[in-house]
Amino acid sequence: MGKLVIQGAWQQLGQDLAADRQWRSIMWSLPTSIQQFATKAAIDVLPTRANLLRWKVGCDSACPNCGVKETLQHVLNSCQHLLNNGAYKWRHDSILHQLVNALQTLHTKSRIMADLPGRTYRLPFQADTDFRPDIIISHPDSTIEFVELTVPYESNWKAAHERKTGKYATLLTQAKAEGLVPTLSCIEMGSRGLPSCDWDAWVSRKRLPKSITRVCPSIALSASQIVWLHKATTWPNPPPMPDLRAGVRPDRSLSTTQPPPAGDLSHWHPAVL
Ligand SMILES: [Zn+2]
Repeated sequence: MGKLVIQGAWQQLGQDLAADRQWRSIMWSLPTSIQQFATKAAIDVLPTRANLLRWKVGCDSACPNCGVKETLQHVLNSCQHLLNNGAYKWRHDSILHQLVNALQTLHTKSRIMADLPGRTYRLPFQADTDFRPDIIISHPDSTIEFVELTVPYESNWKAAHERKTGKYATLLTQAKAEGLVPTLSCIEMGSRGLPSCDWDAWVSRKRLPKSITRVCPSIALSASQIVWLHKATTWPNPPPMPDLRAGVRPDRSLSTTQPPPAGDLSHWHPAVL
């Protein structure tokens, strides 16, 4: 990557973060180690193999797990090894769990199903497609909401959104054929904690509790740091519990209990919630 390209990426992300006071506020509320990870990840100066080679302190940019060039985007979103180990799904499901909890407080008379472990999940009609969105909200008036969460690298928000929108087009058509009134919301939470415009619009439209706008980016950042820390090791099963209490070390005893994707935040610091 040329110097100008890197400077451009730096400036663009710098502008994004400068404009996003919410992100900075959230980031500064997190423990120091996550703050350091977040700021370095935001401007791509973590010691990935690609960066080490560029800094002339490494001799090989290949990911030791899969052989692809080890950029930050590769580690946080694209490594086949981490994908196969379930690290990305764990991060995704930890965020999804928070959304489902928030939606349940809003829709007490509707049926909410989510593609999360341990939860009942099935379409309320027959469909000729195997694609299923993360959340289905069936309302008593025959309207049905499909919500698909993606946790992409921030530069891939648009591509992820378009890919997921196309993926569920058939499902929408079939829901209409069943006499339902479907809507599809594809929302993105960046792996470095920046939500997409579609995420912001959906949260606002749904009137979700304000806490969700802090909790989900916090989980994304915390979980991505854990993914980063385990990039060269075996992904633990069960994975570690993200701990967002500023200045407090993770409670090791939690690693022996059932961790996310349950996403239980009850032990997290109130300032984050
Ligand atoms: Zn890899």
